[in-house]
Amino acid sequence: MQNYTLVDAHCHIDFPQFDKDRNEVIERAQKEGVAVVLSSLNPQDFEKCLAICEKHDNVFLTVGISPTEEDAHKIDETIELIKKYGDKIAGIGEVGLDYYWVGEKEKHEAQKKNFARFIELSKELDLPLVVHSRNCEADCIEILKRQGKPAMLHSFSGSVEQAIEAVSFGCIISIPTNIAYSKNKQKIAKEIPLESIVLETDAPYLSPVPKTRNEPTNVRVSAGKIGLLRGIDTSIVEKTTTRNAAGFFRINF
Ligand SMILES: [Zn+2]
Repeated sequence: MQNYTLVDAHCHIDFPQFDKDRNEVIERAQKEGVAVVLSSLNPQDFEKCLAICEKHDNVFLTVGISPTEEDAHKIDETIELIKKYGDKIAGIGEVGLDYYWVGEKEKHEAQKKNFARFIELSKELDLPLVVHSRNCEADCIEILKRQGKPAMLHSFSGSVEQAIEAVSFGCIISIPTNIAYSKNKQKIAKEIPLESIVLETDAPYLSPVPKTRNEPTNVRVSAGKIGLLRGIDTSIVEKTTTRNAAGFFRINF
């Protein structure tokens, strides 16, 4: 028996944008049957994220650090937190690569080294891995494939071909709510198997309505859009993506 009809597989409801009405936002999700996977993006936000997660039954936690973070101390700290709370968290992430915000080639090598450490850790602790990649999808897929670690590719912005390649070795693609208007996201959501798709908001970002704050209940918009694109009932998208998220995070949502 499932408790939730939808899963927001990736968001940042710990961010200050929710400081005024976080409880309302989470309770709204709870009321609408939406489970929420909160991604802690920075070791100094971890305590806040953990407290949110402990307060609300429908919130689950993954722990990672932005790929653009260069402070080795913060990366070590994140690894320590994951080790310490490994049995309390739903996964590692987001971690990964970002060549969009960091253009310098020599810094990409450092990003790859950090990424490798988190991949190793996810294997060692047998935890699901949530990956961020921007302007570096080919590198990201190649590394995961070589390491034999399928991951959830959050807000994937590569090509349809790259998405298909990632899915071919077990990755799942997380489709964000900006599928409402993003042609690339629409193409991907239409072409890859439904069994390889989960939904996310990346809230407060990537709202279905540009320039507004996003929130977990909006995953419903994505389910509806994917249903339309694929010519299937929204309820099938809801059921399948919830089952996919449950399989990936090994949580009985
Ligand atoms: Zn994110």
